[in-house]
Amino acid sequence: MPKKDLIAKKDLKNLNIQFTPKISKILPKKEFHVPRHFSVSSIGTFLTCRRKCWYSRIRRLVPKLSPDYFYIGRVWHEALDVLYSWQSYDAALRQIKRSIKKESKSPWFTADQFERIKTDRTILSAMLNGYYQVYGKEDFKKWRILRGEIEFNLPDFLNSGFDFNGRMDSALKIATGPHRGTWCLENKTASQISNYQLEQVKIDPQILGYVSACGHILGKKPRGVIWNVIRKPSIRQKKAQTLTAYRKELEQDYIDRPSFYYNREYLFVPTKAVEEWEEEITNVLLDFELACQQPEDKHIWYKNPSMCTMYGRCAYLSLCSRGEKIQTLSMFRIHTRDEETEKKGNKDGKRKTEKKRKEIIDKRKTRQTRKHYSGI
Ligand code: SF4
Repeated sequence: MPKKDLIAKKDLKNLNIQFTPKISKILPKKEFHVPRHFSVSSIGTFLTCRRKCWYSRIRRLVPKLSPDYFYIGRVWHEALDVLYSWQSYDAALRQIKRSIKKESKSPWFTADQFERIKTDRTILSAMLNGYYQVYGKEDFKKWRILRGEIEFNLPDFLNSGFDFNGRMDSALKIATGPHRGTWCLENKTASQISNYQLEQVKIDPQILGYVSACGHILGKKPRGVIWNVIRKPSIRQKKAQTLTAYRKELEQDYIDRPSFYYNREYLFVPTKAVEEWEEEITNVLLDFELACQQPEDKHIWYKNPSMCTMYGRCAYLSLCSRGEKIQTLSMFRIHTRDEETEKKGNKDGKRKTEKKRKEIIDKRKTRQTRKHYSGI
């Protein structure tokens, strides 16, 4: 089906968005937007709460200020990406400092949170040190990174009329041993690791989606996903303890109890499971398409109150509970197209860095080969 035919202009009019004059000052009608792309998490939002999907994807409302619960995970991802891409512990440590500095500039970070950010930096450095000792050196020998962090955009995914966007950690190749083959790498931070998580991860849409996307990007389905989980520390900083002493204690604990802190599973993903996910996703996209074509008063974007406090407080709770008023709406801003363009600019910058990284690693390898021959 051609893209343009999927949501015609007349369908947009059917949506019949009514704004009172006052509200329209805050949310101009022209900002209304029907997305032509999806990611695994946006589909998750649609499935868990349609109302949330309506606010975040169709109305493009983002909270002006909201605490970011996931920033530790983000910094950890960036650090591991650098660790494997540059094969350097020091570079990864520097990346933690850089990422933390960048995060601390975000508007939700207030002055009283600077102590917290120092502690977080200490925790992340200790996590990295332990990880490098337990896995890093061995992985450098066995793993060949095919692509560092991959930002992908698969246009008209499975002829659905929607582009599939996302970001996955890495694609890598193992040359020998029982795990020989191509794998996607999925890094995670968790407070605890349980057996049922391992069961659930086999049908996790993120895992299946990444394998599917990776197959489209590399032209061949990878064997599966390396599920690489690290537990956040259970030890807290004592009152009189300095950050240096705390860091040493954590580093030692990460080295002493590797099986408590690290969990790595090679999850083989069969082709049938990926095909099943692809069929399911096509059906969900069809539902999304139909929902977009319904007028708002049909209440097709219904609420799911059981999700309001499932992962902390939902950012749209005030809108759902108190309604769309000046007071509640003024806590949001509209995600603009300029921000997307800026993201695209970052991607171009990343491509240049990737090229530079390959050159440096090639040079390093040539130097090592020269050293090797000169030593004969
Ligand atoms: S507050 Fe609850 S019902 Fe409203 S969007 Fe969030 S999860 Fe959905």
